[in-house]
Amino acid sequence: MQHIAAYLLEARGLSFNTAGKLEDDVAEVILRWLSDKGVSDPARNEGSFNSLTANGQGKFNRSHTVADRGDLEEIRLDEFSKAGQVFTTTLSVTRSPADVSVHVTLSVTNTVSMIAPVPIDPRCPAVVRQLLALDVAWTMNGNRIPVGKSTSLIGEDGATTLLDHLRSSERRMPIVVVSKNDGEILWPWFDQELAYDLAGLAHVVTIDDEASWMLTEEMGKENSCYLGAVRLYWPIVTGGSAAAQFSGSVWTASALLSSDHDGKGALRFRTTLRRKVMSVAALTVVAPIEIRQIKSDAARSRLTELEERATANSEELEIAKMYLVDNEQLKADLAQAKIDIAVLSSRAEAAESALEQIKGAGPDAHPAVADGPTEPKSGDIRYYKKAHSKPAYDVLIEVSGCGHTSWQSASKAEKAKKGVEKLVGRGDWKNIQHCGACTGGGMWKVRW
Ligand SMILES: [Zn+2]
Repeated sequence: MQHIAAYLLEARGLSFNTAGKLEDDVAEVILRWLSDKGVSDPARNEGSFNSLTANGQGKFNRSHTVADRGDLEEIRLDEFSKAGQVFTTTLSVTRSPADVSVHVTLSVTNTVSMIAPVPIDPRCPAVVRQLLALDVAWTMNGNRIPVGKSTSLIGEDGATTLLDHLRSSERRMPIVVVSKNDGEILWPWFDQELAYDLAGLAHVVTIDDEASWMLTEEMGKENSCYLGAVRLYWPIVTGGSAAAQFSGSVWTASALLSSDHDGKGALRFRTTLRRKVMSVAALTVVAPIEIRQIKSDAARSRLTELEERATANSEELEIAKMYLVDNEQLKADLAQAKIDIAVLSSRAEAAESALEQIKGAGPDAHPAVADGPTEPKSGDIRYYKKAHSKPAYDVLIEVSGCGHTSWQSASKAEKAKKGVEKLVGRGDWKNIQHCGACTGGGMWKVRW
């Protein structure tokens, strides 16, 4: 089984009535979601259906557990794909007098044994979006949950707000920062698209050039985000070293545009980021402890009932008691194992980002966040790609070559030429050519 993602939506400290209403609303969202999936009678405890969304067969079951400290409703939905995989969504809804929480997991299993990575393109499940749309301030571990919209932070005030969030040891969710370059982000609307993709998991903020500069001043270039770059900041791990304080990943405008020869760079980047955040969430979002407690309580009270009815000290009762103790120990062990995996996975993620930084600092590699173009010497060939257009010039970014061979003369490209001059600070190139094969933004080859 491969864990794809996990979500935890909590609403705590509610009045009894508000919690009750929220529990009803959540139940209604789940019924509607099952019905959208193709389930004809979603209120039943189990059933099979023709999945409308996965284009295959599906089945679901639900169980309800009642205990003194609260109720637990568990729903499991399996969808069988034609490619031989089972996609499983589980929802665990707990309700205590003042709290409601929903824990959602997504996983995929091959129906036949096969040693090969499962190609998946994970997305936020519709039921999570519908839950996020409810009129309630969902939190996770005390943090406000992102509902799928990006925030724009401008100037010094914006930078100050962002810095407070980035440095807070209370932060439990990643922040993705999208920086502007000469007034624009790299692809139109892609900050909103990233926020939509990462709903429930990560905050997305867009910063303007001024906020970028202040961020750099405060955090240093190695931790900052500017000139069209995108940066993922994991929450601060307490007790971590100073270097690991801002662990995460950074994608420069140059790297992002270098891999965009077909106009689909934004789509590919969305997939990359989604995979990265969701796979970490799959291991690090832990189910609320109430789930286990409610189950234990219910099992214990069932046992008490049995004891009252059966003759005292019957052999069956002794065995049942033994199983209950074993079962609770196993559940506790499993919860601990999941936490251990989460710690290991965050270490792996930190190691990976440290490695990225080391590579970035190497003499032959691009720095983690480039300052802009490299100074060309006579005879050098450089490639520049258009990020966006201004009235008087094109905003260009230096990229690695596109691999195409259809270079065309560019006698009339005045705006692009002005763009190169503005970017590099010189206009004394030997020749400049345009790629006839690249789409999604002009590509220029300049021989200096
Ligand atoms: Zn090209």
